[in-house]
Amino acid sequence: MTVRRIEGELPVAFRYTPGVGNTAFFEALRDRGTFLGSRCADCGVTYLPARIFCERCLARLVPDTECGPEGTVESWTVARRDIDGTPLDPPLTFALVRLDGADTVLLHRLLGTADIGGRVRAVLRPDRTASILDLEGFEPV
Ligand SMILES: [Zn+2]
Repeated sequence: MTVRRIEGELPVAFRYTPGVGNTAFFEALRDRGTFLGSRCADCGVTYLPARIFCERCLARLVPDTECGPEGTVESWTVARRDIDGTPLDPPLTFALVRLDGADTVLLHRLLGTADIGGRVRAVLRPDRTASILDLEGFEPV
């Protein structure tokens, strides 16, 4: 079988719609600098960012549980190239962080070094716009 390859570019534009739970999360992050999750009273799982239904038992949830701003590094990796393959100098470190009070993790930049199990604190930007980039990243404590 012969594989034919055609070089080219396909511009793709999209608009992300955060929905009810994530809208509450982003507004709390922008307006109060807090991390808003939702806790399932039926099975006890706290989701962060907030959800409007439990992914495990399908119970209806309300975004009303503040988590963090400190948490624990669950995993991390170092990116040495950007999405286009261009070398990053210096490399960027990303971590999965479970904020205190949450059972799920956030993926974001690790500002410094911390190993798995290490404690970190959220670093917020002063001029927030209801974006995940309102969070600059997590720094070791
Ligand atoms: Zn549940």
